[in-house]
Amino acid sequence: MQHELIQLPYAYDALEPYLSRETLSYHYGKHHAGYVTKLNALLVQSKFSDMSLIGIVMMSEGTIFNNAAQVFNHDMYWHSMSPKETDFSIELEVAISQSFGTIEEFKKMFNEKAISHFGSGWIWLSGDKNGKLLIETTVNADNPLRHGNTPLLTCDLWEHAYYIDYRNARADYMEKWWKLVNWEYVSNKFYDYNKK
Ligand code: MN
Repeated sequence: MQHELIQLPYAYDALEPYLSRETLSYHYGKHHAGYVTKLNALLVQSKFSDMSLIGIVMMSEGTIFNNAAQVFNHDMYWHSMSPKETDFSIELEVAISQSFGTIEEFKKMFNEKAISHFGSGWIWLSGDKNGKLLIETTVNADNPLRHGNTPLLTCDLWEHAYYIDYRNARADYMEKWWKLVNWEYVSNKFYDYNKK
């Protein structure tokens, strides 16, 4: 089974001025595409060759895991953003407020955790097995599925996500990133998570 590079849900320049056309063309067209190509090459004659992407993320280790998880993580990252202004569902807004105080406090906690995460990785809003929302960071390609949690929103903390536009200033990237968050997508994820 060949894994495919998802279509970017918007044009390369759609997230400007917060993320440039150059960032998206490299990040999606080189980095993300590279993980897909590498994954397909690694899967040839491996025991994971017929498995779904999530199955591989759950079961594999080493370079197969790294590439499969990076494909999954980037798929979710692109969908976590939108050029349009979007809104929360009431259910999501209530759940975030109950878990973190207010939406503003949630964003502040999320930013602080993202900024203090050392090196490459990802930051997530996730739901745990008991229906509790949490903010978690993961190292390199790791993601919440491996820890029994359900990812609802993610931001890429690898320098390749922001270096062209923000150089080393991860805090500036995080601050601007909120202008792009696709709350409709997160609300849908949250709805699915609650149904489980
Ligand atoms: Mn990336």
